[in-house]
Amino acid sequence: GIATITKQVDSVCPYCGVGCQLQWNVGPDEKGEETIRFVVGRDGPANHGRLCVKGRYGFDYIHNPKRLTKPLVRRAGAAKDAQDIERVKRGELALDALFRPANWDEALELAAGGLRKLRDGAIAQGLRGNAIPLAGFGSAKGSNEEAYLFQKLVRQGLLTNNVDHCTRLCHASSVAALLEGLGSGAVSNPVADVAQAGFVLLIGANPVVNHPVAATWLKNAVDRGATLCIADPRGNALSRRAKWHLRFRPDTDVALLNALLHVIIEEGLVDEGFVAARVNGYEALKASVAEATPERMSEICGIEPETLREVARAYATSSGSMILWGMGISQHVHGTDNARGLIALAMVTGQIGRPGTGLHPLRGQNNVQGASDAGLIPMMLPNYQRVANDAARAAFEALWGRNPLADHLDPTPGLTVVEIMHAAAEGRIRGLFVEGENPAMSDPDLNHARAALAGLEHLVVQDIFATETAILADVILPASAHAEKWGSYTNTDRLVQIGRPALAPPGDARQDLWAIEQVARRLGLPWTYWHDGPEGEDGDGQLAAEAPVARVFEEMRAGMSPLAGVPWSRLIREGAVVTPAAREDEPGEAVVFTDHFHTPDGRALLVPTTFAAGPETRDADFPFVLTTGRVLEHWHTGAMTRHASMLEALSPLPLVTLHPLDAQALGIAHEAAVELATRHGSVRAVAHLSTEVRRGQVFMAFAYWEAAANRLTGDAIDPVGKIPGFKVTAVSVRAP
Ligand code: SF4
Repeated sequence: GIATITKQVDSVCPYCGVGCQLQWNVGPDEKGEETIRFVVGRDGPANHGRLCVKGRYGFDYIHNPKRLTKPLVRRAGAAKDAQDIERVKRGELALDALFRPANWDEALELAAGGLRKLRDGAIAQGLRGNAIPLAGFGSAKGSNEEAYLFQKLVRQGLLTNNVDHCTRLCHASSVAALLEGLGSGAVSNPVADVAQAGFVLLIGANPVVNHPVAATWLKNAVDRGATLCIADPRGNALSRRAKWHLRFRPDTDVALLNALLHVIIEEGLVDEGFVAARVNGYEALKASVAEATPERMSEICGIEPETLREVARAYATSSGSMILWGMGISQHVHGTDNARGLIALAMVTGQIGRPGTGLHPLRGQNNVQGASDAGLIPMMLPNYQRVANDAARAAFEALWGRNPLADHLDPTPGLTVVEIMHAAAEGRIRGLFVEGENPAMSDPDLNHARAALAGLEHLVVQDIFATETAILADVILPASAHAEKWGSYTNTDRLVQIGRPALAPPGDARQDLWAIEQVARRLGLPWTYWHDGPEGEDGDGQLAAEAPVARVFEEMRAGMSPLAGVPWSRLIREGAVVTPAAREDEPGEAVVFTDHFHTPDGRALLVPTTFAAGPETRDADFPFVLTTGRVLEHWHTGAMTRHASMLEALSPLPLVTLHPLDAQALGIAHEAAVELATRHGSVRAVAHLSTEVRRGQVFMAFAYWEAAANRLTGDAIDPVGKIPGFKVTAVSVRAP
């Protein structure tokens, strides 16, 4: 029948970094319960009414009966065992056997008490900074305010900078290269600028699957005459619109990019005026690519020399050339070098600083840009102020006021995600607070990561479902879903947008911001963002309250210059403001670097790179290359989408994409069982035969606990960005 709608709430999509604006349509279900009945797209700056299948149909996870409705604490005597994850997921072990319900006071005291005990014991032993055996993982799917408050909790309450989030597994290497080269880790131009570009290089990205609405702007641009070059070993639904699809050998990006740079320099296509005025390090780059001829690099990357020349010429000579990239660039042990090559291309040709040019790392999660901006990273305070910088620490100490626990913020950069997991395995990290992340699915080398999580003395997980990580927790705090709270979210275009609550959380679930503050208070921090208690007007954290979120945002704004012109009231009024925005009465800067870069001297820095093979060598035992990624219907570890009925119905199986000729040689039929094994682990999944992969390559998504792809990946990391090389793992494939 036709749904009765009692309330329409304007918000933003909880999934990808495109940041589509949408409207929750709320009304009674068959039982009279208030539910989201359907979702429609709004005319937002990033989507103009469009939504993809996740935004439109992926909302009913909110109403899934598996939502956590009570705090849970581990039962006395219920030992932690990493194998319990799959036992619980398979239904062989009840969650009730491991956990008992508790009230919030008890759960918060246990959660904070365990952290407090480890902190105080470490301080008494003289440990400081990243040697304190505690860490926190915040989340890029939480709001800016949650990210900001969580990193502040770790730095002020746990007295360490051991705080990180999934950017480390996503674009950390891109951000490292952009900060180093241009002084800013964000995009230079919005995605929609492709409409003004003459040439677009789309490298290591599959936006039809991962940024679907952004892909529609790209399709439109090509249909209107822009030239598209795709560079990706895998097939891509945009390939038929591309003039070139460079299906280079996996992991040879540096060779490919150096060949393009070589041609641009050799053929006199460098924008000499731009380089002289705005770029440092050109001579060193020129020397480093002198030997990287297309002929030599072709032998490594597998692309014909003449094709490399044609692409280099097209990129350099177009009136406006834009580069968009994804995790095909970043998720490598040399991801920073890959991104350095892209930056160099834009710099030597002056293809930046104007509409229809520039560099755009397509950000994954809806708020990964904002969470990073807000300081949810171990080496930076909010606004990318390095923790080692005395003036930056002093500024935040002044903004945050006196901390009764410590006179000063710690100057030592904290540990990153993978480093934290290693430290946990070695007993150097003993307590962890995880808010909204799922490292028991998202981390590389899962067998090792799960054992490390199971070995923690104290694990607190705050989430909306009993995730794979939560199954190993000591305390689980039931949180609010995206559509149950206020918050701001920063999309891939640096657009800050407002998310509004449509519903109350179920049962005893609480607002995330409230719970973070409650833990902070029990760690000894005198926080009062949430005016609760007998006189409080914000409630007990069960219902969404706007005022505490606004208070946190305003404090954050005071410490972050790009938000100077964006008071909370403006966000509410306009719904979306692009940053940086220096003044309240002016629009923000959609295109940056128009006349200077954000480095100390305003000039870009080129960093030469040399091709080097990664650690995952193929041999007779492991002859294939495994690439992991996502599918259209499922988001990251599946914590939300696998609980969304329509998305799960569309994509219920853990598929392994395999070339039909490889499958034939191995005797594997379409949709038959297939076993993958690497030097790190093995899984059994379902064969999906397609020429989307090259021969010798297989692909699988990491959303499926039944065949957790990260059981197969290794945890070698990029030395600069500290990101694992998810895109290349040597693997064997066989019929079981
Ligand atoms: Fe949501 Fe991204 Fe889809 Fe837009 S493109 S509806 S933001 S998942």
